[in-house]
Amino acid sequence: MSNRYLAAAGLMMMTLAVCLGAQRGGRGSASSTPSTPTPPGSPAVEKMKKDAAADVDTMKELTQHMVDQVFSFGELGFQEFETSKYLTGVLEKNGFRVERGYAEIPTAWLATWGSGKPVIALGSDIDDIPQASQKPGVGYHDPIIDGAPGHGEGHNSGVPLNITAALAAKKIMQREHLQGTLKLWPGVAEELVGAKAYFVRAGLFKDVDISLFAHVGANLGVGWGGGFGSGLVSVEYQFKGESAHAAAAPWRGRSALDAVELMDVGWNFRREHLRLQQRSHNVVTNGGDQPNVVPQNAATWYYFRETDYDHIKELWDIGNTMAKAASMMTNTEVSWRILGSAWPQHMNKTIAETIYTNIRNVGLPAWDAADVTLAKGIQKELKQPPMGLATELQPLRGGLDPEQNMGGPSDDIGDVSWNVPTATLGYPANIPGLPGHNWANAISMATPIAHKGVTAGAKVQAMTIIDMLTRPELVVAAWEYFRNVQTKDQKYVPFIGPMDRPAITMNAGTLEKYRPAMTKYYYDPAKYKTYLEQLGITYPTVR
Ligand SMILES: [Zn+2]
Repeated sequence: MSNRYLAAAGLMMMTLAVCLGAQRGGRGSASSTPSTPTPPGSPAVEKMKKDAAADVDTMKELTQHMVDQVFSFGELGFQEFETSKYLTGVLEKNGFRVERGYAEIPTAWLATWGSGKPVIALGSDIDDIPQASQKPGVGYHDPIIDGAPGHGEGHNSGVPLNITAALAAKKIMQREHLQGTLKLWPGVAEELVGAKAYFVRAGLFKDVDISLFAHVGANLGVGWGGGFGSGLVSVEYQFKGESAHAAAAPWRGRSALDAVELMDVGWNFRREHLRLQQRSHNVVTNGGDQPNVVPQNAATWYYFRETDYDHIKELWDIGNTMAKAASMMTNTEVSWRILGSAWPQHMNKTIAETIYTNIRNVGLPAWDAADVTLAKGIQKELKQPPMGLATELQPLRGGLDPEQNMGGPSDDIGDVSWNVPTATLGYPANIPGLPGHNWANAISMATPIAHKGVTAGAKVQAMTIIDMLTRPELVVAAWEYFRNVQTKDQKYVPFIGPMDRPAITMNAGTLEKYRPAMTKYYYDPAKYKTYLEQLGITYPTVR
């Protein structure tokens, strides 16, 4: 190893520390441990991977159609009916067996192809964000339908990525007579962290050897270990009182809304004395009917986030105490139900190191001037540094000390990661510097930025599938890390109880309201090459 290489590696570790500190609240570099990308396989394996990546390039049009189509459906969690119908249709056409209504969730499914070991699961989310409707390719707020949901996170792109990757891997498996099973599954209602714990309970991952997840981002990247983000429980508290004329006989009423407000006041006083790592937030889902009727029903919906299982349980218990206390103060009754849950994520070292080697081989897409103009347009619009699009790969992230974790976002892929060796591939279909869960994050998601980013991600995913099919020592190493490091002192206990059921009616009302207007904008690939063309948008449109 040359000195120059060592210097470069040292610089990379420093960049890693700086980068993570900036992203995640200034944790020190002391907790980072080095990580080595997996060396390449035999020439025969590397040839298969190269062929698969080339095949992904020939499927660019299919990839673009799928990304644009799902973008145009714009469905919220548990209401992904059009999305799932379309994606399972593509899979069936390509020889996959599809099981629909998986785990008692009408929009969930499991698509399988191949036979025998290893079993490789490919997952990605499919739901979108309330009120995030946005015209793609336009660098300022311009909804397709005002108030309607939209892909303001980019979940329209991940299953298309997995399908393209699976089709490329499948061809190589047939050509080379490779044994193995591919299982594709959708992250239904990820924004509600509503489905993956139920998939685990239904046994989706029981026979899985390697789980590859994909999530949209602004760069190609991967990480391993714990020590980032939070887990959570999502709980709705329902209070029941007694109605009365609010002016003629208020003393005969018992206000459920008073209980909601007192619970929220109590929580906000308690907040100061909770660990700094916690994140908690709520919305009032039912505040009564009208002021002159004492509200007999009211409800408040909380996310309780913490960095490990025990602390999440503790936070949830405090919430339950607050709810009971509020019901006592108001002489109302309270009940609650879990609407979603997510374990803190812990990603597998071997899988991440293998993905990272493939990331380095594929590299970032070649952005053109139009892509960069759109990116800078929205960055300026939001008063962010006009940095454009990612032009340098991120280092392989890993080895953070869980004790140093100051919390952050969650994804219920966490539950999967504690049941089977898992890693998440981030791919560059979005624009850096955007707020997330916002219309701005939808802008790139049916444009060449997303199409190129998904193609790059699909190459990495296909190559990693082939690594796992042809190099059993990688599967063994992944399980060694899973058993002897990750789960040595911490075992998975689901937050959902045996009687809990997925909250499948959520968002039904919103879709009922907006679906008729949205249907007119569903993408028709028979008539239009791209969704931009169908909408008559000049790419890019910026101020
Ligand atoms: Zn997401």
